[in-house]
Amino acid sequence: MVGDSLILFIDMNSFFATCEQQVNYYLRNRPVAVCVYPGKYGCVIAPSIEAKKFGLKTGMRLNDAVKLCPDLIPLETHPPRYREFHIGIMKILRSYCEEVYPKSIDEAIVDLSTYRHVYKDPLKLAREIKQRIRKEVGDYLQCSIGIAPNAFLAKLASDLQKPDGLVTIFPENIDEVLSKLQLTDLPGIAGGLSAQLIKAGIKTPLELRYASADKLRAALKSVVGIYWHQRLNFMEADIDFHEYKTMQAMRQVSASQRQNVQTMENLLVSLCMMLEKRMVGQGVYAKDITVFINYEDNKVWSDRIHAGSPVQEGTKILDLIKARMKKFRETHHSDALINTHISAMGVTVSKFVPADALVLDLFEDTVKQDKLRQTVYNLKDKFGYDKLLKAIELSDDNIMSDVIGFGSVKDMYYKSTPSVV
Ligand SMILES: [Mg+2]
Repeated sequence: MVGDSLILFIDMNSFFATCEQQVNYYLRNRPVAVCVYPGKYGCVIAPSIEAKKFGLKTGMRLNDAVKLCPDLIPLETHPPRYREFHIGIMKILRSYCEEVYPKSIDEAIVDLSTYRHVYKDPLKLAREIKQRIRKEVGDYLQCSIGIAPNAFLAKLASDLQKPDGLVTIFPENIDEVLSKLQLTDLPGIAGGLSAQLIKAGIKTPLELRYASADKLRAALKSVVGIYWHQRLNFMEADIDFHEYKTMQAMRQVSASQRQNVQTMENLLVSLCMMLEKRMVGQGVYAKDITVFINYEDNKVWSDRIHAGSPVQEGTKILDLIKARMKKFRETHHSDALINTHISAMGVTVSKFVPADALVLDLFEDTVKQDKLRQTVYNLKDKFGYDKLLKAIELSDDNIMSDVIGFGSVKDMYYKSTPSVV
């Protein structure tokens, strides 16, 4: 049942506060609280490890926090600072494998399943990661690492020892670990869910582990019950990044369609935009783009592009493809790749990253644009996106030049529906 899966869950301890202590030596070993604003009623968003010892919690008002800890040093938040440290930490994680999924600015999942033969001793690897973070990112930064066969148990393991924890959960110790916990100690189980389980006679995490999937589904009246059975029995219920391994958009081109170069240019745009639409629908970004063009004489041009940062926007995919085509032409002194001899064209995107995992990983603008795009697509049915897309495929040059001219399909929507902006 356990299979070969191996997940590391990395949770930076008191991340925002520790970043502040990293850059300001005076703050080290002192109780500090990062706040939305440091006025009397400012809200504590991150107490330092030292401040937590006084009972400070995220969400407290500053005037209440100071009552608990009179020496507390309130600090304003510096998001760009935390993002910079985050990027440094992700860089270290990605030096071990490609399957690194940031869950938030201070948490990441590393899926080592296909690297078990490379990293035979995961504990040694975890210690090395901790050491490298201290050496290469900041000597004051600490993290708790959980190691287990699935993402849920790895996260649970990372929660069990703070700060600077290193805990594993495997078949040989899971019952011992769970026997010390309450239902509400499990990430994702709050009061309501716990009450439902207790009502069904499941009072402890151990009982939850040994309840059948069917019993849990009945108890929770939902498929969620099955997920809980899977989580505590080493199956993966929380990483489904591989559900859509690739998405492809491709078109055959008839002899009459290929008479016009502009039509072929338009076709490439529409393929990129179709992929954008599907990725928005699935809430994913892609790291790899593959493009191919077949010609009448059976020759093929194809290339694989690794996007520097994950992409979702059709025009960005188009730009990357165009840049690659330009480079090919320059290197090989060839004719234009998009010409009137094309018989088929296709674009594939792969290596998906869930959009929510990108929060703060990229620049804020990207996230904002992502939300904007989602909003646009939520409107698509109302305003007939499919009709519009068909129009694009039929090479209505006016529409196409608008798309190219304004950089994104969303501009068309905002022009036609200004009331929703
Ligand atoms: Mg944390």
